[in-house]
Amino acid sequence: MEIAIIAHDGKKAEMVQFLMDHKAILESKNINIIATGTTGSKVQKAGLEVKKLLSGPLGGDAQIAARVAEGKTDMVFFFRDPLDKHPHEPDILMLMRLCDVYNVPLATNPATADLLINGL
Ligand code: PGA
Repeated sequence: MEIAIIAHDGKKAEMVQFLMDHKAILESKNINIIATGTTGSKVQKAGLEVKKLLSGPLGGDAQIAARVAEGKTDMVFFFRDPLDKHPHEPDILMLMRLCDVYNVPLATNPATADLLINGL
């Protein structure tokens, strides 16, 4: 199973904490994590295995959106910062739209991600 993770700058620390809190489940279920570039680097520094794609503003969200459309990504944790502006807003909307097109679970905050991960 593949889970994609993305966190806006204001939410990266929360993403790292979230993954550390759920490390045991992630490892026991043999989950492959993919991430946008900067999010992935932070998670790697915390000691988790993750495959990094491009940074979000440089196309990372679009790469994840394509994987959703191709049926390669099964779940998306996208911790968005609703209090900040993002130059790649069109890519963000595309990713969320494709999750809905392909009925792929998408969590945009830790509370929802917690429910999803505990439902695995
Ligand atoms: P980043 O991208 O992990 O490379 O910062 C996240 C985003 O802003 O979409």
